[in-house]
Amino acid sequence: MDYTKILNEISEELSNFNNPGKVASYIPELSKVDPSKFGVHLYCTSGTHHAFGDTQERFSIQSISKVFSLSIVMRLLGDDLWKRMDVEPSGNAYNSLFQLERENGIPRNPFINSGALVLADILVSEFDHPKDKLLNFVRNISGVPSIDFDEKVAQSEKHHGHRNAALANLMKSFGNIKNDISTLLDVYFYQCSIAMNCEELAKAFMVYANEGKILNNDEEILNPMKVQRINALMQTCGFYDEAGEFAFRVGLPGKSGVGGGIVAIHPEKYSVAVWSPKLNERGNSLLGMETLERLTTKTGLSIF
Ligand code: GLN
Repeated sequence: MDYTKILNEISEELSNFNNPGKVASYIPELSKVDPSKFGVHLYCTSGTHHAFGDTQERFSIQSISKVFSLSIVMRLLGDDLWKRMDVEPSGNAYNSLFQLERENGIPRNPFINSGALVLADILVSEFDHPKDKLLNFVRNISGVPSIDFDEKVAQSEKHHGHRNAALANLMKSFGNIKNDISTLLDVYFYQCSIAMNCEELAKAFMVYANEGKILNNDEEILNPMKVQRINALMQTCGFYDEAGEFAFRVGLPGKSGVGGGIVAIHPEKYSVAVWSPKLNERGNSLLGMETLERLTTKTGLSIF
């Protein structure tokens, strides 16, 4: 497969793309990003890389981080985790409250905010330094020790994260949050603020394309069953109320974030990260989805 040629074609085709999307502004620091940024990095299990555009500039990974916190928690806990959250698509916005109330404080899945807040609660219960644990996990699987939190983004979200505080309080009222709310919100906001570039994200997600192992040193991060389950969750729940649309148009397990990043994997073939900050009305990168749709159409490869 000539991925370089395919990416060049996509870059050419999309060079004059009229993008009606909007940069996220509910976290004020995110609105400062240059909306024209656009980069794609594809990393194959054979070890080759293919890229174009702004692939070396770091951005806020936001909800993509939920895949990392889920991975850490699944390494620790067995099926008990699923007593505290479900594995069903929500069909609702990532920060929706009403479904959570109707379902007695049990999040639909780990990839909406309520689910990720329960994961943060578990990290607080299990580790003395949960933020360091998260950062070290990401640094290890990507092989990039300089990856860090973006302090400004974390503080900005902390000052405007009232809806996440509402979700955490609602779940606490149902007994599904064990720790102090401000402590777990702090972990969650820092987790979302992690800054990575497309190349680093594609490398980190290689674990999910490579049967749970780091490609360069074969370290097993997740056993095959766990990685299959995480991929199933990315397929069904990785794009909030647009998971069906992403499966229909792109057809890969993946995860998006309101920083404009999307990472997707083709099991045993590649991982691919795309960044374009303008979002559609569901909070997913508009050009990112378009790019990945063209990638899977042009390669003709499908997991289905
Ligand atoms: N930090 C964001 C929030 O909690 C993450 C949302 C997202 O990327 N979808 O609202």
